[in-house]
Amino acid sequence: MPTYTYRCSDSHGFDEVHPMTSVPDASTCPECGGDARRRPAAPHLSAVASSAYGLIDAAARSAHEPSVVNSLPGAARRAGTGITRNPLHAKLPRH
Ligand SMILES: [Zn+2]
Repeated sequence: MPTYTYRCSDSHGFDEVHPMTSVPDASTCPECGGDARRRPAAPHLSAVASSAYGLIDAAARSAHEPSVVNSLPGAARRAGTGITRNPLHAKLPRH
């Protein structure tokens, strides 16, 4: 089961293990007994490599913060003179 990180108002951090189907948003701090909120972090799944989290984070971020694209891929190459100067190659279909 994944581990979820909680932090109380006194900045005590602790981890709890919950099934993904029922993760409480709040818990009780074991140090001070105060209310602790679940931190908005990805759960630590030991079976998933940390690099996968980067991809998941990037995919989630692209949903509301898409990266700005200034040019189409390969646009600079098409704008140039090209690789070949053979006139027969100019008749080849372009995409
Ligand atoms: Zn605490």
